[in-house]
Amino acid sequence: MNTITESSELLADSLGSGSEEEFRKVLVVDDDPAMRRIVFKILDSAGYEVATAANGSEAFEILQQDCPAFVVTDWDMPILDGAALCRKIRHEELPRYVYIVMVTGTQSGHLVEGLASGADDFITKPVGSQELLARMQAGARVLMLENRLRLLADHDPLTELLNRRTFFELVEKELSRSRRIGYPLSCVMIDVDFFKKVNDTYGHMVGDAVLKSVSQLLKKCCRETDHVSRYGGEEFCALLPDTDGQGAVVWAERYRLAVAGTPIVVAETSAQVTVSIGVAQRYHGTDTPEKLLDIADQALLEAKKLGRNRVVMFQSAMSRTN
Ligand code: GH3
Ligand code: MG
Ligand code: MG
Repeated sequence: MNTITESSELLADSLGSGSEEEFRKVLVVDDDPAMRRIVFKILDSAGYEVATAANGSEAFEILQQDCPAFVVTDWDMPILDGAALCRKIRHEELPRYVYIVMVTGTQSGHLVEGLASGADDFITKPVGSQELLARMQAGARVLMLENRLRLLADHDPLTELLNRRTFFELVEKELSRSRRIGYPLSCVMIDVDFFKKVNDTYGHMVGDAVLKSVSQLLKKCCRETDHVSRYGGEEFCALLPDTDGQGAVVWAERYRLAVAGTPIVVAETSAQVTVSIGVAQRYHGTDTPEKLLDIADQALLEAKKLGRNRVVMFQSAMSRTN
């Protein structure tokens, strides 16, 4: 039996102290081995997880593989200097916002150019332990705030699933990856059956709890690489990378049965719902998110027409993968 928790788990977890851990990774960039050692020692003894690089180019390779929260970089370096590294970090699409502390001499010209290049903060040589750690803490406050805003902007507050806008962006990315690499991609559109009746019979609070429950089940049924969103009121959409239409139908059927077999208990009330599901696989004619979502929606409409509480896969003479 599934009891609904009122707490906003995903957002609470992500906004809570758990996030501090991810702000402990730092990349120190300096061509002078003695300076690298000094900065490494200060940060390492304060509990940071520190990687090092001898120039901007080496640093950028590390950033692409395992992107840290912070970069502490020297200004003058061979190959790619500090300002150029800043510009590259801001220009390229990295998986997160990187907070850059620039280590400079006392020339004020560096400060203006550094800020224009995308540095967040400065520290002048010789680097003092207390000052560096205080600047790192100030940076962590900024990163946590940025993280919080991003989470709120990307998720639906009731169900904590991705919102429609963020989901669309992901569909676009996954479509082009699927085309480039040639792996299958499926899209699954889900709609709660007779949901209006749930609201009318039990009230909106129970209706909301039902939406949370089917969302939690949806997350439970998904792999880490899948994306799930609240697409509209009582409509959800899942994107399954590396999954063909048949695989997506099997997945959808498992989810449909999980929903149908889970009574939703809210206070004294126990409600039971079913879902109708439309499945579509990417093929050569569905190269935009709109088209892929549209054929999943057509399959969903068919599932409704055929009597609800069922899975229908989009069928067309054109639907073959390229
Ligand atoms: P069908 O089986 O054809 O899908 O019927 P349905 O009743 O599920 O569909 P319909 O579109 O007629 O009704 C959807 C209802 O969902 C109407 C709307 O008030 C309700 N709804 C949308 N968003 C929310 C929400 O956030 N909370 C609650 N409680 N209800 C919502
Ligand atoms: Mg409905
Ligand atoms: Mg609907």
